[in-house]
Amino acid sequence: MAVSKRIVLHFPRRLLDKPIVSRLVKDFGLEFNILKASVTPGEEGIMVMELTGDRQSYTKGVKYLTEAGVKVQSLSQDVARNEARCTECGACITLCPTGAFSLEPRTRKVIFDHTKCVVCELCIKACPPRAMELYF
Ligand code: SF4
Ligand code: SF4
Repeated sequence: MAVSKRIVLHFPRRLLDKPIVSRLVKDFGLEFNILKASVTPGEEGIMVMELTGDRQSYTKGVKYLTEAGVKVQSLSQDVARNEARCTECGACITLCPTGAFSLEPRTRKVIFDHTKCVVCELCIKACPPRAMELYF
């Protein structure tokens, strides 16, 4: 049976220049479609992809990624902002690797664009009043 899932891959710095993803095609017969890719200020690589293949190959491919040192996260998780907690401090603006936060110049409010979020979780740990929350 074929599966197709959206996942987030977190690459530690030491793996950034390694041809890890190409082996998913070559060795496991999987197909992938990269939706977003970026490097965080801490030099962790983040890639959002749709990974498709038969279930057994998919499981083997994800196992290979994990054993190679890549953290694989399912996009069934979601991040939301607890508006009542946000103090508009702006700490998340430069930290977010995909630019999901921006400053509205007129009101000086911090806007959160949920559609740009790749659920890397960086803002969850960094937000001083813990306004960013992870949902499953
Ligand atoms: S870091 Fe947290 S409190 Fe500060 S602007 Fe971002 S979401 Fe709001
Ligand atoms: S989890 Fe936070 S830091 Fe990561 S992409 Fe989403 S909004 Fe940006």
